[in-house]
Formats: sequence, C-alpha cells, structure tokens
Amino acid sequence: MPFGYYNGLNHRQKRIYQESDRVWALPLPDSAALQPLALKIQAALDSGRLDRTQKWSQALLHAITLQLGIRPIRLELLDVRPSNSKMELHGLYYPTEGRTLPRMKLWMRTAKRRQVVAFKTFLRTLLHEVCHHLDYECLKLKDSFHTEGFLRRESSLVQQILPPVVPISHSRRAKAHLNKMPTTKAV
Ligand SMILES: [Zn+2]
Repeated sequence: MPFGYYNGLNHRQKRIYQESDRVWALPLPDSAALQPLALKIQAALDSGRLDRTQKWSQALLHAITLQLGIRPIRLELLDVRPSNSKMELHGLYYPTEGRTLPRMKLWMRTAKRRQVVAFKTFLRTLLHEVCHHLDYECLKLKDSFHTEGFLRRESSLVQQILPPVVPISHSRRAKAHLNKMPTTKAV
C-alpha cells in the first residue's frame, strides 16, 4: 500500500481499513464441491466460448454465495478487456444495498492480443471480486479496501477453489500471458 494512500483516508475509513487488514482467511464450508465448477470454467475458457464461460462462472459464484448463505452476485461476462496505455481492466464489482443484486463484470480476452485469459488468472480475478462482495456480506465492512488482509483472503479462496492438479500446458500459458501483459488492474 502506498504510505500516502492510508494517510489520505478519513478516520472512519481508517477504522474499516484496519478491520479489513485483521482477517487473513475465509474458510468455505465445502470447497471440494466448488473445484469441479472451476474445472468447468477452465474447459469453457479453453473452448473460447463466452456463453459457456459466463454460465460456469455464474454457477461458481452462485455456489459460493449459497454455501456462505449470502446474497448472490449477478455476473456480466464481457469479451475484450478495456485498456489504455497504463492499465488493463480485469474485473469490477458493484456493491448494492437492498433488493438490487450486487453485480460483477469480468472480461475473458486480453486487450492487446485478444487471447483468452489464462485459467488461473481468470479464476483469481473472479475471486478477487468475490472478496469485495465478502467484505460487505460476511465481514460487514462498510467499504472494501485492498489491504494486506484482503489479498491474503483472496489467496485463501484461490487455494481452496483451485483444483489440485492443473495441466502443465495451462500453467505455461498463464506465465506467457503474464509476461506479455502490460500493467494490469482488477478493481
Ligand atoms: Zn479490487
């Protein structure tokens, strides 16, 4: 975190920031039941089909929120990531109150080369946005910051949901994507 960023927060935000920083993991009730859905997403990405990727990503989101007994998230999966010279957008989360469901946007193709996003990167982005949702729904925070605790919670979700064996070809492809990508951002 840039030092100036924290200093720029008001008293209320600093309190939320500190609360967020204290929680390092979010255990899911039955993560083994979620792993097959992650594999479905992997297959859908491999097929390059947006409709299939939307379907199984939404299914994973639904299963996570159902297990935790919290409000569902409505996913909108889009094609090529928006970008400018400095950054490339991976995902967005829109918190809501009341009856309107929170929304998530994800993109499945890289900006420059328009290649399908590597499975691990896609899953991590999806779970990053889920973490924002859990900040409001599970931790009952009034705001959601990228604290060290937040990033640890994101990693804990990835570890729980990522199937134990990912074929080598996918890992290699993920690395290739990462190396080629310009500065990227998931917010
Ligand atoms: Zn974020």
